Amino acid sequence: MKALRWYGRKDLRYEDVPEPSPGPGQLKIKVTLAGICGTDLKEYATGPHMVPPDKAPLTMGHEFAGKVTAVGKGVTDFRVGDRVSGVGYWYCGDCYYCKKGVYNLCVNQGFTGLTTDGCMAEYFIAPAYACYKLPDSVSDEYGALVEPLAVALHAIRQGQVSPGDTVAIVGDGAIGLCALLSARAAGASAVHLVAKHRGRGELAEKLGANAVIYLNEGNPVQKLLKLTGGLGADAGIECVGYPDTPQLTVELVRRGGIAVIVGVFEKPGTLDFSTMTFSERTLVGSSIYVHEGRTVIDLLADGRIDPGTLITSTVPLKDAVKLGFEALLKDKETNVKVLLRVT
Ligand SMILES: [Zn+2]
Ligand SMILES: [Zn+2]
Repeated sequence: MKALRWYGRKDLRYEDVPEPSPGPGQLKIKVTLAGICGTDLKEYATGPHMVPPDKAPLTMGHEFAGKVTAVGKGVTDFRVGDRVSGVGYWYCGDCYYCKKGVYNLCVNQGFTGLTTDGCMAEYFIAPAYACYKLPDSVSDEYGALVEPLAVALHAIRQGQVSPGDTVAIVGDGAIGLCALLSARAAGASAVHLVAKHRGRGELAEKLGANAVIYLNEGNPVQKLLKLTGGLGADAGIECVGYPDTPQLTVELVRRGGIAVIVGVFEKPGTLDFSTMTFSERTLVGSSIYVHEGRTVIDLLADGRIDPGTLITSTVPLKDAVKLGFEALLKDKETNVKVLLRVT
């Protein structure tokens, strides 16, 4: 079968590999669509970050829609032919955190496409617990967005976003835009997004942002205060991972509000703690998801989340480097979520 394999920085190869077979509790999935995630892009452009050196070459990808073609021993809730999507984590089920049900904090965690072969291939293997059946009302295109939407929904939950809240999102990438959709689905009455790229800001408006604040047009904190009657947002969601975006997110949040860090950082940032003490703001991390994949499918099925405009192109797997990865690096104005058509 064909697969897109990561050999090292700027070295992705479309090549033949043997077809995998599922172990106990696992599914073999024939992939229809695979999404390029910000994490995949980072591994390609500046990696390795998360791929262990001894794992290369490795098939990339953890955002997918497909069909079950074989089930491993002990799998009872899936059958051959089921349309599925899913998330990327592999957890041990045995550590302190798994026993508490917070699988996203598992100390023995693996991740599809980063520590095991991923979905940018005709077939791949996923644990059944990380897969979800897709109802007829959810297309493969939307199914391929379940994973990033689950990341975003978890961040919105970490921010305790409730009906009527005002939310400020920092970042105009796929996770920022998914966080906008998730905040809306959680009942936020106003969602403002801080953007760097005009094209993506316009997309945020189409997806329901009340206001888009551009970084190069003056102080974003002053602008948000104006929009919120001087208060600030109830929750701020940092979806960038640059050294100065946590500070900005904290300052966008009102007294007693919550700032959530979901960005992945390559370099350490700084925080002025005087912006925490007297304002009693809370700063909280957000790591992937626990059961949000299931919830996202329900929200997609009944239309409370409609991410269609996020998909800016769908290209064949064999052209993934040029039309996917390179396009995303070179043109952030027009490219947000690129899907790879596998079969
Ligand atoms: Zn992802
Ligand atoms: Zn564990």
